[in-house]
Amino acid sequence: MKILVPVKRVVDYNVKVRVKADGTGVDIANVKMSMNPFDEIAVEEAVRLKEAGVATEVVAVSCGVGACQETLRAAMAIGADRGILVETDVELQPLAVAKLLKALCDKEAPQVVICGKQAIDDDANQTGQMLAALMGWPQATFASKVTLADGKATVTREIDGGLETLELTLPAVITTDLRLNEPRYATLPNIMKAKKKPLDTTKPEDLGVDVAPRLATVKVAEPPKRSAGVRVADVAQLVDKLKNEAKV
Ligand code: AMP
Repeated sequence: MKILVPVKRVVDYNVKVRVKADGTGVDIANVKMSMNPFDEIAVEEAVRLKEAGVATEVVAVSCGVGACQETLRAAMAIGADRGILVETDVELQPLAVAKLLKALCDKEAPQVVICGKQAIDDDANQTGQMLAALMGWPQATFASKVTLADGKATVTREIDGGLETLELTLPAVITTDLRLNEPRYATLPNIMKAKKKPLDTTKPEDLGVDVAPRLATVKVAEPPKRSAGVRVADVAQLVDKLKNEAKV
């Protein structure tokens, strides 16, 4: 069973992002970039399924600029067998990524695609869902447990106030939630091994996909600065402020 894992290169989660002075977006010049954390969880899950003898091959895919190769190498250091880079300088929106992934699914015929539930840069939470729709495949989002057996996936999902367990017929799309697993640290020998694993590069045109953006970002703004707090003299004053100023 082949598993495809889309991995996105995003601003590292430790970086405090700055909005560009002209408000057109976030400044990513000279900023540390890493694999989207939910995608690390997806790679880890796919590799665990391979180690358990359930999957036979784990293929990582990244769409974007040439530097996404680093993201693919990071996935291969965790244990993915090979990587595919769909290279483009065009800013990719979720629908474009979903169409690229569809073209690759048609070519590679994976039984399962494990995406992150969302990319932490744009917080779109759309790509996996759109891919499932384009493929006509079932989907289980926000997975906290995944079992694959007998052509079916059993997925436990984190929903408001509890857990839901779904059974899907493969092929299917699954998206990862935070508690699915704890990704391993890539060891130095595995980082070295990853450099020798196959990495193919293709382009949206080769896959026959138009990736032109459909949405325009109107404005990006920082959240308003928090004003300084005040110390209240006693509980009565606190209650008064809560009632009359905060309108609680
Ligand atoms: P999003 O819909 O943008 O929040 O992304 C959800 C998931 O789709 C991510 O966690 C990745 O698994 C996948 N994805 C989104 N954009 C890309 C990309 N440019 N390359 C590879 N995978 C992506």
